[in-house]
Amino acid sequence: MRIRLTKITIRDLFEGYDNQFENGVTGFGGKLDIRPKFQREFVYNPIQRDSVIDTVMNGYPLSVMYWLKNKDSDTYELMDGQQRTISICEYVEGSFAVNNEYFFKLPQEKQEAILNYPLLIYVVEEGTDEENLAWFRKINTAGEKLTEQEIRNAVHVGAWTTDAKKYFSKSFCPAIKLGENYLTGMPLRQDYLETVLRWISDDKIDEYMATHANDADASELWGYFEKVIAWIKQVFPTYHKEMKGVEWGLLYNKYSSVDTTNFEARFNELYADDEVESKRGIYYYLFDGDEKHLGISTFTPGMTKTAYKRQNGKCCICGNDVAQNQAIAVRLDSWKDGGRIESENCRVVCPSCNFNYMNKGEDVEIHYMQRDPENWNKRTPMVKKFNRKQLLIDGLGHIEIVEKEEAPKA
Ligand SMILES: [Zn+2]
Repeated sequence: MRIRLTKITIRDLFEGYDNQFENGVTGFGGKLDIRPKFQREFVYNPIQRDSVIDTVMNGYPLSVMYWLKNKDSDTYELMDGQQRTISICEYVEGSFAVNNEYFFKLPQEKQEAILNYPLLIYVVEEGTDEENLAWFRKINTAGEKLTEQEIRNAVHVGAWTTDAKKYFSKSFCPAIKLGENYLTGMPLRQDYLETVLRWISDDKIDEYMATHANDADASELWGYFEKVIAWIKQVFPTYHKEMKGVEWGLLYNKYSSVDTTNFEARFNELYADDEVESKRGIYYYLFDGDEKHLGISTFTPGMTKTAYKRQNGKCCICGNDVAQNQAIAVRLDSWKDGGRIESENCRVVCPSCNFNYMNKGEDVEIHYMQRDPENWNKRTPMVKKFNRKQLLIDGLGHIEIVEKEEAPKA
């Protein structure tokens, strides 16, 4: 591979400029492919665009651009500098004004100065695909950042990728029409494609793309996406804005065959619950039952302090003293049982009891030694299930907790 620094003028670059938008853009006498297949969908940014023109008009230097020379022909693909190249060409063509001045209205000498402005180009020649890709990644770290998925598309050039982009990342593509209420990010920057690939591959995008790179089309991916969307609409017929950004495909992969008859009704109930702070989390909670998705409210410092004082600074389970800044507020009646964030429902426990007993669901299995009241030295190993709430009320003051090994087999 050889890299050669060359200088061309804007006049050279603009010669034969032809912008067919997403179907291709060429310049430099038709020899430069400004939007080659491996390049990202161009995201036109008017602020960056104006600053490029401003730089040129002031005669300040633009950073170097990279072209890849095609083997055995005098043609090139633009590797880095699409925003700059298209901004310059569109300005010269008269598509927009900067500071209220169109190119064709500028005085002759100003037009000439722009057309003679020199651009620095690194031309990469005679590279293998891997070498070119290595370069592509390297310049990407310095230039306009490509997204991970844009780089993957560059790695897996072919019919499959072209077709997948047609579905998921063109302006007015089918995925926008079908899925924009459920997907976040910018389709043109490949965010939709990345999300759906992550779903279908259970987060193994590169493996999936490598396996399918030589497929004739991406109809499998599109068909999967249609199924996911249809499933969402069937399970939750009413649309909520919180649906946008849920990892629907991952839920679909795992739970598409579970009975979801009551889900919509349960969703509405939880949605109306003020203590459920993460409304989006409800969608996950309904499937896996994990309360952590719900962002359930916690007691205020004031309520915690009140409970601490009421308990005379002691953990209500083990009865040991606990420092106020270590005391953990828990619900006497759990959220599931309708226990609310109210002072009367607040108890404090020490960190160790919180860890051992409060994070284990409703029933806590406890191994302990029971002393014979008649013969104090006689101890019998016991194992018993304690109800979470009862544990908070009764505490463990009278029993001697032991390690599991000492306890009898249940
Ligand atoms: Zn304790």
